[in-house]
Amino acid sequence: MVGKEILNQLTAYKQGMQIAEVKRKYNIDKIVKLASNENPYGCSSRVKEQLNKSMIDYEIYPDGYTSDLRMKLTEKLNVDESQLVFGNGSDEVITFICRAFLYPGVNTVMASPTFTQYRHHSLIEGAEVREIPTRNGKHDLEEMKNAMDQNTKVVWICTPDNPTGTIIQKDEFKQFMDEVPPEVLVVLDEAYYEFVSEQLRLSLHDSVFTYPNLIVLRTFSKIYGLAGLRVGYGIANSEIAHKLNVVRGPFNTTSLSQKAAIAALDDDKFIQKTKELNDKVKKDFQAFLDTIGWSYYESHSNFLLINTPIDADKVSHYLLQHGFIVRSGNLLGYPNTIRVTIGNEEDMLALQPILKELQSKINDGVLK
Ligand SMILES: *Cc1c(COP(=O)(O)O)cnc(C)c1O
Repeated sequence: MVGKEILNQLTAYKQGMQIAEVKRKYNIDKIVKLASNENPYGCSSRVKEQLNKSMIDYEIYPDGYTSDLRMKLTEKLNVDESQLVFGNGSDEVITFICRAFLYPGVNTVMASPTFTQYRHHSLIEGAEVREIPTRNGKHDLEEMKNAMDQNTKVVWICTPDNPTGTIIQKDEFKQFMDEVPPEVLVVLDEAYYEFVSEQLRLSLHDSVFTYPNLIVLRTFSKIYGLAGLRVGYGIANSEIAHKLNVVRGPFNTTSLSQKAAIAALDDDKFIQKTKELNDKVKKDFQAFLDTIGWSYYESHSNFLLINTPIDADKVSHYLLQHGFIVRSGNLLGYPNTIRVTIGNEEDMLALQPILKELQSKINDGVLK
């Protein structure tokens, strides 16, 4: 069994530590997971109400067309039903894009570092990956444009970017799109869209409605708080959506997840509240980081990429021992940083004295 040669050079996704795992290993009761940008406020109470109320026949396959959720979103987004494609998380839509548009002999352009799944699945499809270094944590759109040629099929843009949280401004984006050849598919990954302040968000008019060679990716995993249920989607013109739907497995989202997503869409208040709390707690936490002299990237999202004065693995290990799971930037392409999800106020306040003590240990030379 040989398989694709590239599989020998890639690794399976290495997830952050699970809460139960840390509890066992370090014998700590309370663990706060700030490693995967999940919603610390859970999800809308309507989701659980709805799921308790509705009878789901588990022996019956789900609606593969995702009709009810599709209709709900067409109204919300003002798009045609033919313009949507649903995935088992937007991660799965990324695999559809690679499968549909990439193959040996063509290339794809992306920032480096950025969300790792673009590269991973592009390589599996045999495409050449052209990675353009970020500048101060931001996509270098000019160099990304320069890297394209007649064999470029897909370009990836992540805004807010993961792991930095930086965004692409409307005018930069427009200028980029106006110069990208119309036969190149641009993927705009907006997993954290709802965390961006309204005046800075790219509307569908700025993206899909203006450029037929563009797909927007959104998800229910982040602000909607449904990461465990796996629903994401793409919005594009019908021709692109059609191709991705051909690639898609027949029953890739579940009856349960579809119902939950519909209920979640009915609760704008929960989304608004999450955003407000995130903004406030983030601001306070940044002010704290300023006091200990730790710098961070400008984040428009629900996480911060923070520069660490000593090796990031040591910092994340120290935090782990004190009950906080964060992501070491060594794994994300930004050495000497940690990516910390903005948790709730209580947890983020509890993190402060731990970081403060860590910094004084560094000052005293106890840790280096
Ligand atoms: C979390 C995330 C996704 C994927 O989320 P799903 O849970 O698969 O919907 C996609 N892109 C970025 C940048 C993310 O951070």
